[in-house]
Amino acid sequence: RTGRLRGLCLRHVSSTRQTSPIQRRFLNQFISRVQQGDQPALEQQHFRLAVKDNIATVSPNPEEETPLTTTCGSNFLANYRSPFEATIVTQMRSRGAHLVGKTNLDEFGMGSHSVHTAFGAVAQEWEQEQQAVKHSAGGSSGGSAVAVATDEADIALGTDTGGSVRLPAAYTGVVGFKPSYGMLSRYGLVPYANSLDTVGLLAKEVRPIAELILGSGEAKGLWAEHDPLDPTSLSPAARRRCASQRDCYHGGPLSSRDPYPLKNLKFGLPLEYNITELSPSIRHAWSAAAAKLQSLGARLVPVSLPSTRHALSAYYVIAPAEASSNLAKYDGIRYGTRFTSPTESDAATSEGLKGQEEGILYARARAAGFGDEVKRRILLGAYTLSSAAMDNYFLKAQKVRRLVRRDFNRVFALPNPLLDKPESFELSELPETVGLEDKWGPTEVDFLLCPTAPTTAPRLEEVLSEEEKDPVSAYMNDVFTVPASLAGLPAISVPMRVEDQEGTGMAGLQLIGQYWDDARLLAVAEAVA
Ligand code: GLN
Repeated sequence: RTGRLRGLCLRHVSSTRQTSPIQRRFLNQFISRVQQGDQPALEQQHFRLAVKDNIATVSPNPEEETPLTTTCGSNFLANYRSPFEATIVTQMRSRGAHLVGKTNLDEFGMGSHSVHTAFGAVAQEWEQEQQAVKHSAGGSSGGSAVAVATDEADIALGTDTGGSVRLPAAYTGVVGFKPSYGMLSRYGLVPYANSLDTVGLLAKEVRPIAELILGSGEAKGLWAEHDPLDPTSLSPAARRRCASQRDCYHGGPLSSRDPYPLKNLKFGLPLEYNITELSPSIRHAWSAAAAKLQSLGARLVPVSLPSTRHALSAYYVIAPAEASSNLAKYDGIRYGTRFTSPTESDAATSEGLKGQEEGILYARARAAGFGDEVKRRILLGAYTLSSAAMDNYFLKAQKVRRLVRRDFNRVFALPNPLLDKPESFELSELPETVGLEDKWGPTEVDFLLCPTAPTTAPRLEEVLSEEEKDPVSAYMNDVFTVPASLAGLPAISVPMRVEDQEGTGMAGLQLIGQYWDDARLLAVAEAVA
């Protein structure tokens, strides 16, 4: 194979293939079943919805209900009442959602365990050695995941910038779906890192999520709804173009009741995801899942995504950079609470600013308003965007982001509909670390199959003591989720049982698809779950 690779692949052109007619027929059948199901998973006119507290909500009936705040888990916005509602919340209400509550999160979505919040860490309790032990619920949509896992909500809205819907889903044993970037409206979502932020959905099973995305009964699919209020919402024309390339969003004759067949689908196992930090029990469950798919007729092939190893570092440069710019507006004057009582940092600040009152107000508000993790991200972002560091950090990270995208476009059978023409590149452009020998593996896979996170949910105690010692260590939890975020691809985490010394636990199995292949991703996830 190496010889063939050397001989033929000096220049690689990403695929222009379409799904096969048979695949399309199966998918259309799946969509029809979701849309016209006799017994929809979600009760059409009444289902319980929990909303992550960085998504704006208003009370539909303020006289009768306690007005809802949108706090982002931050002291700065502890009393903030949004004058408008996020489009996604309105869309959910019009489909019968009944809001049961706002859910706790890492401040502004920054974190992986939902412990960086002004309102107390989120936790889930499991029995261990006959004692209830608190475990991390994952982050930053930990509250939303717990609301679903404990059956307080049928559907929960989260946000996924680098894995914040998928990681909590994995830790709590529920399903977490991050759609293609630009599919769901972000109007009313308080931005963390705009080029990465997406709204995601959590539920116990795949089907209710599929019903909302693809449409069910009278309700239109969310996938089709462009929002003029969100400049990153894909335009109706682009949606039509993407859908026509996928040729699968039109429904079809209702003829089969079987689950979506996995036969003839090709799943890629990314070699670079087999890292030393991967817990043996998760590695074992991952191969067991692959073997199960194989027994159901799917083909499993190793693939290489060589830029993966740099993706995490690139993400933690890009996301804080965008965050530092987004959060600059919280000054205690126009945005956020004005903290009037002096804080500890005032003495130092007033000296530095030589009595400029507005500056003191600004510094005081930010010192009291933001938590430590948010301050860390602001400093990190301000540094990587500074003129001295820009070239070495921010611009390098953007280049890595392009390579990550290209890796994905190379392995997927379907072309990326956002590219005007198939992408081509010289092998010599790839990082030096990539040898040709056996590294490439077949391209042309339908989905990637990998774990959602390297470990199961750690104990909350361990998380908190680790945060004290080495706050950056939690970033490692996002290693498998950030690549799809950098590339804007749809990804879903479905529950996967694992056995370790502590007994049976829950972890997540992640499926990643090509851009706008969300419908097929949901169909396959349902069959895999
Ligand atoms: N844990 C990641 C971060 O802190 C992802 C957060 C998210 O997706 N909102 O940036």
